[in-house]
Amino acid sequence: MARFRCGTCSREGEFAYDSQHHECPRCGSPDVMSALGIDELPEEFVQMLLQADPLDDEKNED
Ligand SMILES: [Zn+2]
Repeated sequence: MARFRCGTCSREGEFAYDSQHHECPRCGSPDVMSALGIDELPEEFVQMLLQADPLDDEKNED
């Protein structure tokens, strides 16, 4: 479970975070922001973020 805040209905809560379902479970809006730290994110989601917005100042090597 991951904490989130919805930008549409302004509700906070928890939901099962996965890479294909980001929408608010209460109102269905995609405008949700996760409230969890990056260390708590699933590895595949972290990789998706890194690929979407690459930064060179912090690299993780396998
Ligand atoms: Zn909502």
